[in-house]
Amino acid sequence: MNDAEKVKALLEVIRDEILPLAESEAARGNAPCGSAILRADTLTSVMVGADNRLTNPLFHGDIDAINRFYKLPVHPPAEELIFLATHDPCPMCAAAIALAGFKELWVLMSDDEVEPDPTLKASRAMYRDIFGVEGIRHENSFFTRHSIRKFVATSPDREELQALLDHVDHRYAALK
Ligand SMILES: [Zn+2]
Repeated sequence: MNDAEKVKALLEVIRDEILPLAESEAARGNAPCGSAILRADTLTSVMVGADNRLTNPLFHGDIDAINRFYKLPVHPPAEELIFLATHDPCPMCAAAIALAGFKELWVLMSDDEVEPDPTLKASRAMYRDIFGVEGIRHENSFFTRHSIRKFVATSPDREELQALLDHVDHRYAALK
């Protein structure tokens, strides 16, 4: 499977599995963030999660997916998996992704490419106010963080991928 096929599969998981969950949580007043954990070899999702910070302020989408994943009776090792997040992780979620052992992170809404959702502003400010940095390092010793949007912009298969990206962007815009 080449990288374009991989990104297409990631966008389809966002469209078909993450967004329905994120849409129902956002309708209840939660942040519109969701995540999926996928097998790197087949690109099928093992677990999907969505923000549920109304229940607990720590239950961000990434944390929800990780919590659900570790409740599975059997789960593949994190090194064989891809972590897919609709939004760049906050400091808590970035540390959780690293602690859980995920090596490959893909992000749909990059902080440097898309204006962060208003419900996420506090999480973004924490990088600056607590740590004195602007965000995560995309290459670090725990994981590599990739941007779906950046990949689509430079892909030879741009047309098909862009149509999928436009579809999910359109549904995200409706959540605001
Ligand atoms: Zn978070």
